[in-house]
Amino acid sequence: MNDLKSYVVKGDSKIKLKSFATKPADDVNKEKIIKKTNANLERMEAFQDRLYSEGKEGLVLIFQAMDAAGKDSTIKNVMSGLNPQGIDVFSFKQPGLEELSHDFLWRASKNFPIRGKMAIFNRSYYEDVLVVRVHKLYENFKMPERCKHGDIIGKRYEDIKNFERYQYNNGYRILKFFLNVSKEEQKKRFLERIDLKIKNWKFSESDVKERAYWNEYMKAYEDAINATATKNSPWYVIPADKKWYTRYLVSEAIVDVFKKIAPQYPVLPQAAQDNLQKDKELLLNEQ
Ligand code: AMP
Ligand code: MG
Repeated sequence: MNDLKSYVVKGDSKIKLKSFATKPADDVNKEKIIKKTNANLERMEAFQDRLYSEGKEGLVLIFQAMDAAGKDSTIKNVMSGLNPQGIDVFSFKQPGLEELSHDFLWRASKNFPIRGKMAIFNRSYYEDVLVVRVHKLYENFKMPERCKHGDIIGKRYEDIKNFERYQYNNGYRILKFFLNVSKEEQKKRFLERIDLKIKNWKFSESDVKERAYWNEYMKAYEDAINATATKNSPWYVIPADKKWYTRYLVSEAIVDVFKKIAPQYPVLPQAAQDNLQKDKELLLNEQ
């Protein structure tokens, strides 16, 4: 099935991650898919130009995944179809002291683009209900006890949902991609990172340690997706074992949201159009 619809989660019913494929069906034609992806990239650029010219709506694309699922290369592919002046990429690393001293949505909020622009978040505030949950990092937060007890993760889901609704009400659309890589494929990619000298830098010791928490992460992703998927801020659970297929589905989702936004070039008021004609005459009559 290469239909995006089978990978979108909008919150109308609870999903199980296990029931989502990590690779395309055998009959999916790679060459055809690559052609479609390239066509999508061209359409994205045309849409983005109109989005910027209109300046009404902002678009944020969130990429979440286990290590080596292909976030970086997917982002690189998306970017290849876009004008860099209309989009910013932010990588959410381990929070520093300033970030930890603020509320958990602060760093995301301050990196939201102006309307008309796009942003890609390589990881996001979802880390605050993923890695923070798996390793119970909140136990060491410098916060009042009332903020550290009870269902802290459940409260954060609500905060995220409200935040995304707030952004939607302010002219932003947020798409959330979970690149769904299999544990076997991750192992293959880790081994490649170890064996290939030019890929060594991509491997960090903590990668294997985190892999040991695979099941905990899958549970954390599943719960986060179920708790925060909505019609307006859907999750896409994208098969990630084949990069050409991941890229295709991501490009489909982006074209899809652009169609919903349907950005238009602004039409100048009559007076401004008249001025254009005067300027045209001036240019044509230049000595
Ligand atoms: P990478 O994206 O591989 O460069 O790694 C970034 C690391 O930062 C990952 O291990 C994330 O889990 C971690 N990280 C990102 N956001 C947070 C957060 N809010 N709290 C703790 N760790 C985080
Ligand atoms: Mg990493």
